[in-house]
Amino acid sequence: MAMPDGLTQKKMTRQEVQEINPAKFEKTEDMSNLTFLNEASVLHNLRQRYYKMMIYTYSGLFCVFINPYKMLPIYTDSVAQMYVNKRRAEMPPHLFAAADEAFRNMMQDKENQSMLITGESGAGKTENTKKVIAYFAMIGAGPKRAAEAGAADKQKKAVRFKDLGEVSLENQVVQANPAIEAFGNGATVRNYNSSRFGKFIRIHFSRKGQLVGGDIEYYLLEKSRVIKQAPGERSYHIFYQLMTQKKLRDRYQLEEDIRQYKFVSQAEISVPGMDDKEEWHATDNAFDVMGFSDREKDDIYKLCAAIMHFGNSTFKQKPRDEQAEVDNMDGPTKASRLFGVDPDLFTLALTRPKIKVGAEWVQKGQNVQQVDWAVGALSKAIYARMFTWLIKRINQTLRANLEDSAFYIGVLDIAGFEIFDRNSFEQLWINFVNEKLQQFFNHHMFVLEQEEYQREGIEWTFIDFGLDLQTCIELIEKPLGIVSMLDEECIVPKATDMTYVDKLVTQHLGKHPNFQKAKPPKGKQAEAHFAIVHYAGTVRYNAEQWLDKNKDPLNDSAVACLKTCDKSSLLSIIWEDYITDYDREEAEKRGKQEGRKKGKSASFMTVSTMYRESLNNLMSMLHTTHPHFIRCIIPNEKKTSGLIDAPLVLNQLTCNGVLEGIRICRKGFPNRLTFSEFRYRYAILAADEASDKEPNNASKKMLARLSKENQINVDNYKVGKTKVFFRAGMLAKMEDMRDEA
Ligand code: ATP
Ligand code: MG
Repeated sequence: MAMPDGLTQKKMTRQEVQEINPAKFEKTEDMSNLTFLNEASVLHNLRQRYYKMMIYTYSGLFCVFINPYKMLPIYTDSVAQMYVNKRRAEMPPHLFAAADEAFRNMMQDKENQSMLITGESGAGKTENTKKVIAYFAMIGAGPKRAAEAGAADKQKKAVRFKDLGEVSLENQVVQANPAIEAFGNGATVRNYNSSRFGKFIRIHFSRKGQLVGGDIEYYLLEKSRVIKQAPGERSYHIFYQLMTQKKLRDRYQLEEDIRQYKFVSQAEISVPGMDDKEEWHATDNAFDVMGFSDREKDDIYKLCAAIMHFGNSTFKQKPRDEQAEVDNMDGPTKASRLFGVDPDLFTLALTRPKIKVGAEWVQKGQNVQQVDWAVGALSKAIYARMFTWLIKRINQTLRANLEDSAFYIGVLDIAGFEIFDRNSFEQLWINFVNEKLQQFFNHHMFVLEQEEYQREGIEWTFIDFGLDLQTCIELIEKPLGIVSMLDEECIVPKATDMTYVDKLVTQHLGKHPNFQKAKPPKGKQAEAHFAIVHYAGTVRYNAEQWLDKNKDPLNDSAVACLKTCDKSSLLSIIWEDYITDYDREEAEKRGKQEGRKKGKSASFMTVSTMYRESLNNLMSMLHTTHPHFIRCIIPNEKKTSGLIDAPLVLNQLTCNGVLEGIRICRKGFPNRLTFSEFRYRYAILAADEASDKEPNNASKKMLARLSKENQINVDNYKVGKTKVFFRAGMLAKMEDMRDEA
């Protein structure tokens, strides 16, 4: 048979092919309407729509987005206005439709809402997050909604700053983002503006639906980027932005050439299409809008510069000697000056840290490798602590008027499932978060379906597919699970990554269904130590450095030295909650003098403990909201518009739960028609019965006849109070019968 250009012919078995949907479902706006809910038709539908740049499509509870990689005129104010107060079916699928639905639900049900935006790197989560926040800022402040709600005291909320004139809260809510992106985003091979942290932004509204403020929580900042970049990548934008300002370079003694600073110049130093100078102004302006003082801004920039200088510290060691010495004081001196500490004491703390052994202080030798490691760890810690402070400081501004807050809509922008050749501690955490989010989705779907069946008076017990994920979640979070065994191993003397792996294997291999040996897949040689069966696929994990990553140790002496800086400086503030041995001794001395009992030492917190706490907080917060799910898809790895890489897209549909949602759907009665819709479309199959005045009676009679004549099976449909429910595939059969009639 002659084939059209570009197509080839291939023989397949019946099991390998999937059924095609009737033509009326072509480019359908909601894929849950498809009568054949299979992977091929989902992919086909998304692809056909994408070719027409219809980038949003619903799939039941999901709003699926495919990155268009070009500016489309669909986010303008006038488009946004068109979605205000509209129902889903009234307008083409859009993020704004999902956003407006959330807002309406909030007002009607007086319930907090959340929008969960997930997807791979480069899929468009952050762009969608920004647009959705701008939408909420608009409707929370806009004249239409505000007037409707009878709220006109917007003026009161405006804040005055220096020469900026009036700064509105809505502007602040929107401007929080560029301030944070400069510090939390960097260029990766996949995405030139990749967020290296997750965030949950809550937009707060008054009882009348007026914007009253916001706050931000962040998760898992990638610290390693501060000191190390892979080929083709760049560190956090702020470093490169800073370097475009001569005034700042002079102030912080930075050379013009960024290649002089090895922490930030191991790979790329510029990004296509990004003007760092312009971006610096945007960042600096965002700080002004957020009400940062000149001192605060100076402190932030100064710490970034100090990290760059600090990274140029070099150490040497005599042959056969195990003690490192400073090789060149230039980097440490400049860094110390900016930190506001004594350079000699600081380098001494690095090369010969003092540790407390019993009641004695002893100096400990350090080799070059150890000192280099300490410099890196300190730099990462300073940056990460500064980031934490930055978010807190922004919250301080955004939360200024929260006493009027009645509800919020939270927007979650967090990385989706990651399955790489080499997966480490970071992937374990992001995958665990996603496992939990998927369980949350499955459970939510179960609740809604069950409610719908009950409302319609249908006897049907829908299964809670959230439970499917429970075994994997337990493997990770329960006592004797992956995380708690890691925490325990961190306090065992002489423990190593491999003693941890051994214990895991003894505990779980062959005993827990989700724990497996890491079999190397064909062609992929990256070493791994165990595998976890996640719902999105089996992930092979490499446990090297997990103990260190979890303990995240710092040179205590060096921190103590940093803490001798000016008490009013940012550097001092960010270390406030870090208690060094030196602080502890001081506290004890003071305690003794004042006749108090000996203070207990601060408890030791692992990275996992902190992550677990923030994940638990997020999950319990989400459980109090009505969720809305946005799934972002990257169409190809070339950043090209209009090109669909089918295996890549299909894989994401598996990982992001869209196919899972469909699988669950198929267990029930996914296709629903109201009695009138049903009668109208299928009257031709049973004309006499259809003539009954009541659509309700007509439908029931029509169905009775069709099943009596064995045209349809009674198990394949259910009659509710207002609708007829069909099993997947039934409507296609009805359509065929209709065509033949
Ligand atoms: P990461 O996990 O790396 O942070 P992400 O999912 O947040 O990735 P974005 O930064 O939102 O991805 O998007 C990556 C790029 O894709 C953007 O810089 C932009 O070029 C393009 N893009 C994303 N969304 C849109 C959109 N709605 N319209 C046009 N281009 C877009
Ligand atoms: Mg992002």
